[in-house]
Amino acid sequence: MTIACGLLPVLQPDEHDAEYELSDYEGARARWCPGCGDHSVLTAVQRLLTAEQLTPEQTVFVSGIGCSSRFPHYLKTYGFHGIHGRALPVATGVKLSRPDLTVFVVMGDGDCTSIGAAHWIHALRYNINMTVLLLDNGIYALTKKQTSPTTPQGFPSNTQPNGSRLPSLNPLTVSLGVTNASFVAQTAEWAPAHLYATLREAYHHRGLSFVRILQRCPVYSAAVYQAAVQDPARIALLTHDDGVVVPDLEKIYKTQVAHDPHDLDAARRIAESTDHIHLGVLFRDPSRPRYEDLLRVAPRTADERITLMEAELDRYAV
Ligand code: SF4
Repeated sequence: MTIACGLLPVLQPDEHDAEYELSDYEGARARWCPGCGDHSVLTAVQRLLTAEQLTPEQTVFVSGIGCSSRFPHYLKTYGFHGIHGRALPVATGVKLSRPDLTVFVVMGDGDCTSIGAAHWIHALRYNINMTVLLLDNGIYALTKKQTSPTTPQGFPSNTQPNGSRLPSLNPLTVSLGVTNASFVAQTAEWAPAHLYATLREAYHHRGLSFVRILQRCPVYSAAVYQAAVQDPARIALLTHDDGVVVPDLEKIYKTQVAHDPHDLDAARRIAESTDHIHLGVLFRDPSRPRYEDLLRVAPRTADERITLMEAELDRYAV
């Protein structure tokens, strides 16, 4: 059985073998604005969960604060709608204490690249096995249009009405500059087939996979991606057998750049380049060490964990 995902039919498990259907992952009705790019990301994630048949009670979505951080409410998995900028330390705790769980992290640009920036850098270095999504709309949207670190220079907001003064922070160059980062990719929510294929690559990577998703906010930052949406010539697809392969998309995005995602120097050059918006896997190295492997934490039963917790509490008994 297949379902359509943008231009590309997405393979689904045979319906007779599938234990979980799309509806098993659908939570509350999403309350994002009409036209918000978050809807597209949610759809792609739900399709990924269905295609991979992830057990809902073994899957956790951790978020911070922001429009995109409402993600856990809209999925029928476990979720933790956390505090601003702290999604990554919460997710790190979840994964280290329960390595058997599949962990996704959803953050916005203000959440991840401002108040959460230190956690972002160290999470990349720790390289714990989880999938991290940065939904980047270039603005603080939940709080109604303040300049964020990724707001383009000159773009007006309520905090800098004459335009953002500084050049914007580039999440790709930052991520690729962090020691031990093992997977960095970029996609766009208005290219759903590419989005889905990128999420699939990120999910299958062993280590922390960081995906920057260019996400439209039609209410507060519509102009940020408008030109790229309207003019496919502004987009360049990174092509490689070990990257994101969506052949039909090449009919729309005619600029393709052959790029081996194992070449870190080339990835950094692409991340810095301003001639196009590059979509694809910039870098991957599954051989990089993962913190959980170095810790060698043996899985524990629930009873063992309770016993250890009680012993720890007994140390403080008076
Ligand atoms: Fe989406 Fe912007 Fe509305 Fe937030 S304010 S839900 S980012 S469209």
